[in-house]
Amino acid sequence: MIPYMFPTWQTELANALTDPRELLTLLDLDDRLFPALKDVTTEFPFRVTRSYAARMRKGDPDDPLLRQVLPTELESLETPGFGGDPVGDLPSSMRPGVLYKYAGRVLLIATGACAIHCRYCFRRDFPYTDQQLTRSREDSALEAITQDSSIHEVILSGGDPLALGNERLAGLIRAIAAIPHVQRLRLHSRLPVVLPERIDSPLLDLLGHSRLRIIMVIHANHGNELDASVGTALALLARQGVTTLNQAVLLRGINDDATALIELSEKLFACGVLPYYLHLLDRARGTAHFEVPKTRALELMEALRRQLPGYLLPRLVREQPGAPYKLPVT
Ligand SMILES: *Cc1c(COP(=O)(O)O)cnc(C)c1O
Ligand code: SF4
Repeated sequence: MIPYMFPTWQTELANALTDPRELLTLLDLDDRLFPALKDVTTEFPFRVTRSYAARMRKGDPDDPLLRQVLPTELESLETPGFGGDPVGDLPSSMRPGVLYKYAGRVLLIATGACAIHCRYCFRRDFPYTDQQLTRSREDSALEAITQDSSIHEVILSGGDPLALGNERLAGLIRAIAAIPHVQRLRLHSRLPVVLPERIDSPLLDLLGHSRLRIIMVIHANHGNELDASVGTALALLARQGVTTLNQAVLLRGINDDATALIELSEKLFACGVLPYYLHLLDRARGTAHFEVPKTRALELMEALRRQLPGYLLPRLVREQPGAPYKLPVT
């Protein structure tokens, strides 16, 4: 009998690091350098892919990629204004798994799974059990979209929609494409960055042959996240006619300096990706230590404007519950 072989991305996903001490050992870092290292095994466990970890600098406790994933005791602090649903997702839930916040665009919580757990994540407390689009909830979600002809764009988000297998995605995308008034399909995914092997040929085939115009919004916060393997994945997407954009979060100690943000924009463009949003931190519980003040954010944008062509400037935005769009920060 021929043994069943998982595609390599699934093996990589299954082999993700789940023990922060193992990561520190790989990076030649003594865990005594991190007295505030937090043992998180339940609510929002530590998780990072090995390929992403391989882009961290060895021996550097302040590495900007390491800082995005390493849990610390600061996450236990309760800070006023930082809560469980920082962007008002839940009041915009139309049906389980369907968020309808902005005109013409619905967002589907395709899955709660991610390949990497970013400690600043705005959905770290999201009630995925009630709110993810399980297979049994798909029909009801698609029916809601079918009934509203003002919806022209469907966004697959999560969690990470590319954590789903190609078969499930193909079924979902086919069903969305069958709704005549939907013109665009957007995927919000960090996998092209943290698990570039995910951009495999069946996926490329699927995206390249859809009637829908496809947009991939990736998520990288620092230029060091973009290595040659990410470049290859992004080039393959572009070859299928997929429009690729990036959203980043402004994070204290990670990318809150002009040099890092300029390099990020330039490296993204070298990979064929345009910067889209630079988000002020969404105030999720346990993330206050990542926040960059608005005045500093505006200073950074001014520095970027002085150095970069207009098309490489991300839009600085803040998401406010109840607002009709992501608010420009001025
Ligand atoms: C961010 C978001 C969108 C997309 O907003 P754009 O400004 O079009 O990128 C859509 N729906 C929800 C619920 C969102 O959070
Ligand atoms: S990949 Fe996105 S959804 Fe997943 S943990 Fe990171 S920020 Fe949150």
